[in-house]
Amino acid sequence: MVKRLVLVLGDQLSHALSALRAADKAHDLIVMAEVGDEAGYVPHHPKKIALVFSAMRHFADDLTADGWQVAYTKLDDADASRSIVGELMRRGQEHGTSEVIATRPGEWRLISALDDAPLSVTMLPDDRFVCSLEAFDTWAEGRKELRMEWFYREMRRKTGLMMEGDKPAGGKWNFDHDNRKPASGDLLRAKPLRFAPDAITAEVLDLVESRFGDTFGTLRPFHYAVTRADALRALDHFATHLLAGFGDYQDAMLMQDPFLHHSILSPYLNLGLLGPLEICQRVEAEWQAGRVPINASEGYIRQVIGWREYMRGIYFREGPDYTSRNVLGHDRALPALYWGAPTRMNCLSHAVAQTRDEAYAHHIQRLMVTGNFALLAGIDPHQVHEWYLAVYIDAYEWVEAPNTIGMSQFADGGIVGSKPYVSSGNYIAKMSDYCSDCAYAVKDKTGARACPFNLLYWDFLIRHRDRFARNPRMAQMYRTWDRMDAARRDTVLSEATAFLARLDAGEAV
Ligand SMILES: Cc1cc2nc3c(=O)[nH]c(=O)nc-3n(C[C@H](O)[C@H](O)[C@H](O)COP(=O)(O)OP(=O)(O)OC[C@H]3O[C@@H](n4cnc5c(N)ncnc54)[C@H](O)[C@@H]3O)c2cc1C
Ligand code: SF4
Repeated sequence: MVKRLVLVLGDQLSHALSALRAADKAHDLIVMAEVGDEAGYVPHHPKKIALVFSAMRHFADDLTADGWQVAYTKLDDADASRSIVGELMRRGQEHGTSEVIATRPGEWRLISALDDAPLSVTMLPDDRFVCSLEAFDTWAEGRKELRMEWFYREMRRKTGLMMEGDKPAGGKWNFDHDNRKPASGDLLRAKPLRFAPDAITAEVLDLVESRFGDTFGTLRPFHYAVTRADALRALDHFATHLLAGFGDYQDAMLMQDPFLHHSILSPYLNLGLLGPLEICQRVEAEWQAGRVPINASEGYIRQVIGWREYMRGIYFREGPDYTSRNVLGHDRALPALYWGAPTRMNCLSHAVAQTRDEAYAHHIQRLMVTGNFALLAGIDPHQVHEWYLAVYIDAYEWVEAPNTIGMSQFADGGIVGSKPYVSSGNYIAKMSDYCSDCAYAVKDKTGARACPFNLLYWDFLIRHRDRFARNPRMAQMYRTWDRMDAARRDTVLSEATAFLARLDAGEAV
């Protein structure tokens, strides 16, 4: 006799999940389901669907071995329903119960589906984070600006990570000024660990190939970890071989090395296979043992207990309408180049090809290449948001949306960032080797070969002059523009307009 259903979602694969802690092994039934609505509401990258389904199947096996009763629905089961609520209703009818325990999902869409379901759902907080949503609200309340840096200091104090008493280790909270070095090719640099698919993953790959084979993204080879044990190996490998260079080369981009010193741990963290504190404690231990410099460990820990937690706080604080914000009124359709159509811009061509092949691009590729171009070109932020949500292996709305709508597209009007992340081609030239192999010339500001980022940069600033000219961090840019020769300014703006017209016409710009 089943008393209650215990919902475990695809990104809730943690043995210490609040819903599991509240459940009773003897009487409750765990419900896990691969459902069409979740897999298909944006065109998710096939690698991402495979990762989630395979990790779910492994986790369900672990739970069964641990003595739980688990009702697991595979996508191709004949009687599977299309939605999470549909599956709960079906299992509830089978077992004569309408009581459900769930951990709060990381997306408003699912929270309201559970709220509206004709079931008695007890929703527990998701406490797999350093900062609860209540604590974030308390921190945010009454502040004029919600700057990440201040939040991060609170998290350092709260966790004690890299603290010496009440002072930050090394005398500074942030070592970012050491972290902006371009990288050169290094054949000896370690690569992320790759995991060969086992029988469960092989079956999932066949399923995903048959159901989602036409979606943007290369499914095979598939090498992501799908169990906690392998995710821990990935963490160990990163900490041992790559962390030391993380700080220095955090912003660098290289054509031949998509991963550089990045950890590729976000897929495992966001699924729940790893926890934020265990990762940070490992990173801190490397620094304490003198094996990595302070700018590497501080920089890494800031991303996890700072940015990641902050983004979650913003998503839930801002509410369900966040993904439709568009304060800059951008309405251009997302160009086909984001889905792999040819482009002569080498930086975009590389970032998109890498995204297609790996379902991964690192932060600066997302922010300063694909994101920067979308913002400069005035693309509808909701379409940009749906693209990021679809194509990245680590994309879940609670973390993707504030990064895209807020940090990258400034569509929230400055809640996440105090100024838009825009740059001309200069930044990309400094931090990457993309420009050396491009049809455009990054040094050309106008003319047939002018780098489109150079043209669009000014076009963006001028279109939004009323909003940004008084921003003290942007005033210098407007002064530079005003000092420019009038004829040159006209050329820049007319070439930018011509470029955007070619983009709209579907030309391979
Ligand atoms: C437009 C845009 C969309 C993004 N979408 C996502 C997303 O869907 N999911 C996601 O996890 N991250 C997202 N990010 C943040 C960041 O790009 C990824 O976390 C990072 O690239 C993951 O790769 P990694 O594990 O190798 O990270 P590393 O560079 O090794 O960083 C370490 C860890 O820090 C955390 N982190 C770093 N930066 C951020 C950030 N800005 N926000 C939240 N966590 C951060 C991640 O958990 C990451 O694993 C996005 C960034 C931008 C600009
Ligand atoms: S020249 Fe411009 S378009 Fe080409 S790679 Fe460099 S930044 Fe990108």
